Amino acid sequence: MELIKPPLHPDRFPDELPYGYLKRLAELNQYESPAWLFRNLSSRSALQTSALSVAELSAADWAGNQSTASAVGANTQHLRYCPLCIAERGYWRSAWQSWVSCACTKHQIWLVDRCPSCHSRLPLASTNLSHCACGARLAEAPVEIIDSPVEQMQMFLDEGGVPDGAYSILPKEHGLDYSARTALISLLCNWLDYPKLTVHNFNRELKQCGTARIHLVNASELLFLPGGLETFLFRLSQRDSPEYYTSLILKLVLRLNIDFPQPCFDTLKHQALSYWVHLRKALDQEQGRSSDIADLWEYAEWQVLPHDPK
Ligand SMILES: [Zn+2]
Ligand SMILES: [Zn+2]
Repeated sequence: MELIKPPLHPDRFPDELPYGYLKRLAELNQYESPAWLFRNLSSRSALQTSALSVAELSAADWAGNQSTASAVGANTQHLRYCPLCIAERGYWRSAWQSWVSCACTKHQIWLVDRCPSCHSRLPLASTNLSHCACGARLAEAPVEIIDSPVEQMQMFLDEGGVPDGAYSILPKEHGLDYSARTALISLLCNWLDYPKLTVHNFNRELKQCGTARIHLVNASELLFLPGGLETFLFRLSQRDSPEYYTSLILKLVLRLNIDFPQPCFDTLKHQALSYWVHLRKALDQEQGRSSDIADLWEYAEWQVLPHDPK
């Protein structure tokens, strides 16, 4: 299988979705489909997977800008986009397709994943660069402004940065790479639904912008709003019995220890444990048990921090 150099072949933008670039080339050259760009194409649907498009594009030295052609995100079925970027830039960005990508930091608005007219989702294969299959212009989708924690979380996801002067529970020098940042946001988005989570439905709600928002707001507030962790843990405490949700907090710290052992998570873990200690103390009092703060700390740390089994 080989990518054929079409008569019109502008460089790919550094942040352009590989499949979106193929779409753009096809439209510019008035080809019916990006499949026309290939010799010996094995299957049309294979084209949409980022890995394949990246591999084929890397072999095409005329396409330019291959240094940043990393495959990003798991969403290879439907388009997620910023209507204002579509209007201004005219191409699809790689960053939109991550499951935990929810906002455009350039325009400070939520991404959308539906047609503004027929309201259907937009399969990558049958959506034109700027139009839904029904003919509606994607750029005409109504825009909704994001709050600052959501914007900061998106900047953190896209570039790893924490803006100057902004609150963040993680230190500026966190050193987390893109996949670690994606995994962190995904974990936080899913944690509030922990009791419901199974392998089968993990991330299900993140797959559509409409249902993803609430989870993304919760995660963004935990990371980038002063007092956000307490709010997050309070929301957690609205689940099930008090005994159960207090144990969920320890489970969260345990999960963080396993997936994110980096020192930059120490503050987050310490604050969560502190919240657990006070919650547990109050619970004990309510139930007529006396407990000692120092003992509770010791118990919490023993539960969640790495230790030698004795
Ligand atoms: Zn935008
Ligand atoms: Zn439509």
